Amino acid sequence: MTGFSALVCAVIDCRSGGVCEVCGAHRAVERHHRRPRGAGGSRREDTNSAANALHLCTYCHHLIEHNRALAYLVGWLLPQTQSPERERVLRRGDFVLLADDGSVQPHEGWAAA
Ligand SMILES: [Zn+2]
Repeated sequence: MTGFSALVCAVIDCRSGGVCEVCGAHRAVERHHRRPRGAGGSRREDTNSAANALHLCTYCHHLIEHNRALAYLVGWLLPQTQSPERERVLRRGDFVLLADDGSVQPHEGWAAA
C-alpha cells in the first residue's frame, strides 16, 4: 500500500501552509485520505492525489475518524464511488473544491454535493 508521493506531499504542504485545513488553527501534522485507500482504492490513480488529501492537525484527524457521518456530509470523507476533484469539502469554514495542482476554488451552492 502506497501513500502520497513526495511531490504530492509538497503540493499538499504548500496548499496548507503547514496549518490544518479543517480548523485553520493548529499546525498540520498528518495527511488524511478523503476517499480511503481500502477496498481496492489504492489501485486508483486519484487515491494519492492532492485533491484526495487534507493536511490536518491531530485534533481534526481524530474528529474525522470519530465522527464519520459528519465527515462524509462535509467532504472530509468520500465514498469509493466519488472523485475527489469533483466533491466539495469544508475547509477552514468554507466549502471549496480542491484540485490536483494544489489550487483551491470556492464552491457555490449547497445542493451540488
Ligand atoms: Zn485542525
